[in-house]
Amino acid sequence: MNKRLAILGSTGSIGTQTLNIVRAFPDKFSVEVLTAQHQADLLIQQAAEFRPNAVVIGEEALYSTVNDALSPLDIKVFAGQKSIASIVEMSSIDLVVVALVGYAGLMPTHNALQHGKPVALANKETLVVAGERITALAAAKKLPILPIDSEHSAIFQCLQGEFHNPIDKLILTASGGPFFGKKAQELEHIRPEEALRHPKWKMGAKVTIDSATLMNNGLEMMEAHWLFQVPPKDIEVVVHPQSIVHSMVQFADHSVKAQLGMPDMELPIAYALSYPLRLPVDLPELSFKDLRSLTFSEPDTGTFRCLALAYRMMEQGGSAPCSMNAANEEAVAAFLRGDIQFLHISDVIEKTLEKASFERHPDMPDFVRLDEEARIIAKELIMQLKKRQ
Ligand code: MG
Repeated sequence: MNKRLAILGSTGSIGTQTLNIVRAFPDKFSVEVLTAQHQADLLIQQAAEFRPNAVVIGEEALYSTVNDALSPLDIKVFAGQKSIASIVEMSSIDLVVVALVGYAGLMPTHNALQHGKPVALANKETLVVAGERITALAAAKKLPILPIDSEHSAIFQCLQGEFHNPIDKLILTASGGPFFGKKAQELEHIRPEEALRHPKWKMGAKVTIDSATLMNNGLEMMEAHWLFQVPPKDIEVVVHPQSIVHSMVQFADHSVKAQLGMPDMELPIAYALSYPLRLPVDLPELSFKDLRSLTFSEPDTGTFRCLALAYRMMEQGGSAPCSMNAANEEAVAAFLRGDIQFLHISDVIEKTLEKASFERHPDMPDFVRLDEEARIIAKELIMQLKKRQ
């Protein structure tokens, strides 16, 4: 049985690791579609190796570069965001891997489910923005959303064989990021290079900065809420700097199940691709003899305000997480450009939320409008902060 994959965001961190799995198990998987935003050279290289039926380059100006390179190989080439969202409709796709960064993951995921495709989801923002709609759609179509995010994969693994045993509590582990234990005055002049140096996980820039601010854990709480239908008050975040326990589930009898492993994204990716079977992936083994200690502590939400903010927005519900996510994406991009300071990220989000419109029951067009509105507000705040620097 060969599973035919569409990999959206194939040149990013999750995308390239997904292709490592495909390369290691050629009898189990083949590539039907690859998409990339800007990295035309890598996309061409991947297409030449994996010979998909079609590729999409997001940046329309790069269409002819990709098309010229791939025309001798009989690979269809498309360009633009709309093509990324519609390519998932191809009847020859068995599983759509959504490895896109940020809000950009929403429309392609929605479209894949709408057209009857199971989804392996690495993009947490899709559920942060529109979790209620997306999970209802998956349920109505009887399609799985297989989590690739390591914490959610851990919970998903812990729930196997539990049938309908109710969940008492989810315990999400957070690495704490590179600034764990630091106080606000030490964080003021952090440079992007320092925030990008994650101690345990190799990831893309957006999620690495989110890990440093703890917004990542806020987004993961929201993602867990929708995936496992557990109320936010029963989702606890604990800081676990070793990143060995990937998350835990507590049941009604207070028995706790955990999933452990070395911090390597190829493990959750492989599990999502081959669920319910496990693949003999060539990953480092966890050595219990060499593990000195596993530590757990409460996150410092006074210093890292984004996590508390995420709980507040989840409580508010409706379109609040959509606006929060848009403001965060703009603030993180501005920090990476050097336009604002590290501690300004939470300020920009908080002030955007004060001004953003609110919808109690947003539908898909509302999300598009409110995402755009929050970005305009956040960009204005960023301009003001930049001028003051
Ligand atoms: Mg994660």
